[in-house]
Amino acid sequence: MTNTDTADAASTATQVAELFEAGSQKVRITVNNDEAARAVPEIRQRLTDRGLDVPLIGDFHYNGHLLLTKYPQCAATLDKYRINPGNVGSKHRDANFTTIVQAAIDHNKPVRIGVNWGSLDQDLLTQMMDANATSVTPRDAKDVYMDAMLESALRSAALAEEVGLRHDQIIVSAKISVVPDLVECYRRLAARCDYPLHLGLTEAGMGNKGVVASSAALAILLNEGIGDTIRVSLTPKPNGDRREEVFVAQQILQSLGLRSFAPQVTACPGCGRTTSTFFQHMAEDIQGYLREQMPLWRESRPGVVEMKVAVMGCVVNGPGESKHANIGISLPGTFEEPKAPVYVDGKLFTTLKGERIVEEFLVILGNYVETNYTPI
Ligand code: SF4
Repeated sequence: MTNTDTADAASTATQVAELFEAGSQKVRITVNNDEAARAVPEIRQRLTDRGLDVPLIGDFHYNGHLLLTKYPQCAATLDKYRINPGNVGSKHRDANFTTIVQAAIDHNKPVRIGVNWGSLDQDLLTQMMDANATSVTPRDAKDVYMDAMLESALRSAALAEEVGLRHDQIIVSAKISVVPDLVECYRRLAARCDYPLHLGLTEAGMGNKGVVASSAALAILLNEGIGDTIRVSLTPKPNGDRREEVFVAQQILQSLGLRSFAPQVTACPGCGRTTSTFFQHMAEDIQGYLREQMPLWRESRPGVVEMKVAVMGCVVNGPGESKHANIGISLPGTFEEPKAPVYVDGKLFTTLKGERIVEEFLVILGNYVETNYTPI
């Protein structure tokens, strides 16, 4: 999802392009006011001018019924609408929700009904909590809260179908920021419906915490076959790289063996045998090189996403790990001979020496890709 001001069509189109080129298969943009809704067709045009056919999802809260009616071009341009049933207005909730769904029907767009525990329908929650309080066997409040989320999502989906949206145009999500609760919530959701499910740990947080918590939650669910689309919600550092959440999402899928997005670098953690930072720089340079090449290779080098590259700090595990990779290098550890054996397809290919090991290895790597992943 972008974090630019959608009304700024140029910046938003640039960020959408960056996310798409990083591998995101669809990009959500917030549509929060008149200026944003007016900018959507221009964002689309700018992407088209760059030759990018990016599915755009509009994120609506509070005023989606107004914006989608007032700006039919915005409604027609977006590929999907995301509605949060807790944020469609408390007074005329069903009427507003129905208006959004009708816009989706008129423009033949799918809708994601995205419940979030931070903005759960308070009337529904109160009703369910009250019923629980007077029950002979009251349940734990968290349990009721979770069921209220499911009810909100599934009642909204049922209403959307009543209005006329096709069953196969509905996607459901129910995001929570606590890993065990999210897992439990989606397990219940998967048991109760056959809508495609969009997964995401909401407000996952910054840095390692966000990455690890998202990975833990999504891995459990995906491994159980639950989930059809995913988003990793990371809080970026000021001026941080928004693509980070795309890379993390891809890595989760690739680590689980579900999808391949980019060649994988196997690098050892280093230890007392690698006292210089040369090895760390090399691993980083190779990873950076692969990432830079991917927008080009994605189309022109079919199969390259399955490639495995090993970058090892010394000969203890280096040659062994290199043999398991398509191409691998082991640097000399401390007190080892200053040479770096390179293995290609399990066999010793050459031994590099001197100051230009990284550059020479990247040339070998580039040649390997050219030879082994030829255009169709
Ligand atoms: S491969 Fe060598 S440098 Fe890397 S962790 Fe193992 S012993 Fe240490």
